[in-house]
Amino acid sequence: MNENILEVKDLKVYFPIKGQLIPKTVGHVKAVDGVDFNIGYGETLGLVGESGCGKSTTGRAILRLLKVNSGSVLFEGKDVLKLSKNQLKETRKNMQLIFQDPYASLNPRMTIGDAIEEVLLVHNFGTKLQRKERTEELVQLVDLSKTYLTRYPHEFSGGQRQRIVIARALAVEPKLLICDEPVSALDVSIQSQIINLLENLQKELGIAYLFIAHDLSVVKHISKRIAVMYLGKIVEVADSEELFRNALHPYTQALLSAIPVIDPDIRKERIILEGDMQDNIELPKGCRFNNRCMYAMECCYSEEPKTIDVGEGHTVDCHLYK
Ligand code: SF4
Repeated sequence: MNENILEVKDLKVYFPIKGQLIPKTVGHVKAVDGVDFNIGYGETLGLVGESGCGKSTTGRAILRLLKVNSGSVLFEGKDVLKLSKNQLKETRKNMQLIFQDPYASLNPRMTIGDAIEEVLLVHNFGTKLQRKERTEELVQLVDLSKTYLTRYPHEFSGGQRQRIVIARALAVEPKLLICDEPVSALDVSIQSQIINLLENLQKELGIAYLFIAHDLSVVKHISKRIAVMYLGKIVEVADSEELFRNALHPYTQALLSAIPVIDPDIRKERIILEGDMQDNIELPKGCRFNNRCMYAMECCYSEEPKTIDVGEGHTVDCHLYK
């Protein structure tokens, strides 16, 4: 059996830009521009990068929630991008998405019980009684009381709502959860509770996660491996511990330097990134990070760096290591 549940190869998602006067495509926003990664069964891969780098678009493209230009998304060996409508519906049972904003994910006019049962109905799950039992089981799986099932979303805190969204996502026993900034909208104290819940569910149910976030410190606790994304590309992938110990890409080093250290005896020099991420319409020549990199050399302005394998699954796209 293939050890990877998901293999993403050279994925490209370009959004067309229409002209203001003539409705003709005048260019493309290259939101995802050649992304490769894989996730093992029951594994968590963290995907980090700043806002606008293409990480959420990558998550949606995997589920075919938006149009993909090229590449492949192999889920258990089958290319999701080539599935028929019915095959896609069947495969989506195994790949569910959790959004950042739990309130927006729930219909305010539906009770929690109905919201969870709705997913079961869409996937033709059992009889009315079996759906009721499954709904009760699910709400308890995310550490909520089954007495909550008759209540509405506004009666819950942000953390509780995210638990309900997770229960909905688990309804049809997915093998992969794409968690798109699932804790970013929550208070710090609640963030760790949701991360612990996701970790416990993974141990219990063996689900794999693609955990998307902009904060490396959040991703570290849950991820076995971390992929760092910049301007539509993955620039570094490593085991979580290795990345924190030995980050190679200057962008990853800058992200790590921004994480506050609680111990006053540990002094850490913060790397301040000058300027903004370049736009992804006219991509820069050479390395995409060249306008912000303190190590940029002549070749960085003419040649796009290739992925270099430095061993033990650690890869980096940077001319410093060629
Ligand atoms: Fe910096 Fe050059 Fe490496 Fe890009 S390739 S990160 S510009 S050193």
